[in-house]
Amino acid sequence: MARQLIAGNWKMNGQGAQLDFFDDLVSEIAAVDVDILICPPATLIERCARAVDSAMIAIGGQDCHVNEKGAHTGDVSAGMLKDAGASFVIVGHSERRADHGETSAIVKAKAEAVLASGLTPVICVGETLAERESGEAERVVVEQMLASLPDEASDRCEIAYEPVWAIGTGKVASTDDILQMHSALNNALPSGVSARLLYGGSVKPDNAAAILSLDHVDGALVGGASLKASDFASIIKNSIR
Ligand code: PEP
Repeated sequence: MARQLIAGNWKMNGQGAQLDFFDDLVSEIAAVDVDILICPPATLIERCARAVDSAMIAIGGQDCHVNEKGAHTGDVSAGMLKDAGASFVIVGHSERRADHGETSAIVKAKAEAVLASGLTPVICVGETLAERESGEAERVVVEQMLASLPDEASDRCEIAYEPVWAIGTGKVASTDDILQMHSALNNALPSGVSARLLYGGSVKPDNAAAILSLDHVDGALVGGASLKASDFASIIKNSIR
């Protein structure tokens, strides 16, 4: 059984004054047998990486460019994120897919750039409410995963299933729906790819245990509840199998 990965996505939140988050988090979790990842905004990666013991908490980026360097104003490359102290990069978050028109082909190229830099991509997939209501969720999400995985996909990829309608809304997919989707994704993983399958979408302290105990759920990608150390610590404690 894979060790669970509990990842926090701070999105466009956080400034230097919030870095006491890590002292608060560590004081609540002590030694846990879980992988922990925090993805702050790019401006905080270096300071976060300095603030944590990397053996206990990894730091990641929330996105990267497909190229290593060049004339791409405002973008950062995977290599730059690594240089700042990141070891993971989220790619294909639904907010990037929706707000920046990122297709699965772009997400795949980003995931390949992340691997090429020696980092681990966390590849996000998920259906819209319309796709779920029309019974297309499983087909859409499996297709998205296969189209977003790098050609040289390895055991250094993580997948996050995040129903778009559950992100930041307080609506959570039912445990039956999560189990069904994670089983489908697990069955569809190409041979040789042993990615952990995270669930994301309004994971909170009070629903984490039920979600994280499901088969084929190897962790969580947490947005809102990762901003408060006590909530994130409680989710981490609920992940211990
Ligand atoms: C996310 O942004 O990846 C996410 C899952 O957000 P939230 O937990 O706030 O729904």
